Amino acid sequence: MLKEKVLTREEIDAAIERLAARLNADLVGRDAVFVCILKGAVYFFTALTARLKESVVIDFIQVSSYGATTESSGTVILVKDLTVDISDKDVFVVEDIVDTGLTLADVIALLHARHPRSVRVVTLLSKPARRRKDVPLDFVGIEIPDRFVVGFGLDFAEHFRNLPEIWEYLPDQGV
Ligand code: 5GP
Repeated sequence: MLKEKVLTREEIDAAIERLAARLNADLVGRDAVFVCILKGAVYFFTALTARLKESVVIDFIQVSSYGATTESSGTVILVKDLTVDISDKDVFVVEDIVDTGLTLADVIALLHARHPRSVRVVTLLSKPARRRKDVPLDFVGIEIPDRFVVGFGLDFAEHFRNLPEIWEYLPDQGV
């Protein structure tokens, strides 16, 4: 059941605008590859990269962690790999939400193994109360409390990704 709207489209757009402004200041002269973590980050990723003034390379990676529950399993499986070479590149990993940090820690380790020049993290949302792995978050859009949210890319059992706003979802009430 969708319980209540947590973030309006205006609040989401404002956060993306702030992040893009910081990134635009940072990107000058860099050989940047923006990596979208599928599927959740895809709405955020397109909105964010479309606001960047420098040309950047984009690519996509998909890992699976949650399945059809609201708890991270802590084990990440690589479902779809990158198609571009990131060695010596400045990589910006774009995530929808960082919860325990376990998924991101695994993705960062996987990317570091390909010898990029740097790896930095951009996330639309962060739930600091739930962190179990201390992953450095370089660009954070909005910190939210410990609530399970859907919409703007975020799902429950693959539903709700297309909602334009972000809502709290109560899983025990059924899809
Ligand atoms: P972590 O490994 O940090 O616990 O979880 C990261 C991934 O879990 C995110 O990429 C996202 O797919 C999923 N996730 C974490 N919190 C939420 C949430 O509140 N709502 C949804 N829909 N997914 C979440």
